[in-house]
Amino acid sequence: MRSFDYSRATAVGEAVATVAADPAAAFLAGGTTQVDLMKDGVLAPARLVDITRLPLRYVHHGQDAVHVGALTSMEELAADPVVAQRLPVMREALLLGASVQLRNMATMGGNLLQRTRCRYFRDLTCPCNKREPGTGCAALQGVHRMHAVLGTSEHCIATHASDVAVALVALDAVVHVQGPEGERAIPLTDFYLLPREEPNRENVLRHGELITSIEVPLLPANARSVYLKVRDRTSYEFALSSAAVALVVRDGVIREARVGLGGVATVPWRAGGAEDVLRGARAGAEVFQSAAQAAVQGAIPHRDNAFKIELAKRTVVRALQTVSDKAS
Ligand code: SF4
Repeated sequence: MRSFDYSRATAVGEAVATVAADPAAAFLAGGTTQVDLMKDGVLAPARLVDITRLPLRYVHHGQDAVHVGALTSMEELAADPVVAQRLPVMREALLLGASVQLRNMATMGGNLLQRTRCRYFRDLTCPCNKREPGTGCAALQGVHRMHAVLGTSEHCIATHASDVAVALVALDAVVHVQGPEGERAIPLTDFYLLPREEPNRENVLRHGELITSIEVPLLPANARSVYLKVRDRTSYEFALSSAAVALVVRDGVIREARVGLGGVATVPWRAGGAEDVLRGARAGAEVFQSAAQAAVQGAIPHRDNAFKIELAKRTVVRALQTVSDKAS
């Protein structure tokens, strides 16, 4: 690991100003991915600004939303009673997202910013446009069974690793940030960038901007939701495919639908086409199949991961069936 300067911030403004003033500086929170990447030489910030003492660790309950401080741990959020009651899809995604040790350490802000698990990204001997723009993508011809089929480009096919971000995208969460030019609120659906010419740019944050909180609108009281994660083994593993689904069903008709996909896309994927199929339709196997087909519209397989398209469809169908059974 390369040596770096370290300081601990006592106020949000101070942390933002320190990082903004130095292009080689970065924030440090839970560090569960960042420190690993520094040890591997993938990241080499010249200065780390420790933000763990900032007053950004809370879950506030509003009338229509929960407001989650960016330093709240995954475990703290999963243990919140309002989250358990009104946002079960998010709670399930949190619990399935990491071991309890990691959930206690990892922060919600850091979770949204976690880097891909693509093995070539972490291997300094391999070309990787995300690590070193313009060098190529080793995964295209390499081992890419775990890689994405949605939102890919010729520059990068790495999946986004977060589970809870998939639920948050489906829930219309909003990210609040503070930067050197002030505060702004960014819908999570606009937060992530597809890997076009610059796969190293993964989100719309500017240098020095800090996520301060996440606003998560509550689901309607009569909604039912689930996070279904399919993986090679039942723990300590990333998703091959996942679906975050919420439905409001009344008199057998779907009044509201949310569908997010994980494990198959380069960003947490909102499946708006599937939602359009579901909204106003009578709940049942046929419409669930149509919605699943719409969810993977535009998917592009590579040599080893074509199975993910069918797997994603089956994941969506099963999640919809599970929610529909709960609603009836
Ligand atoms: Fe790098 Fe993306 Fe290619 Fe993986 S898929 S090697 S992260 S460019």
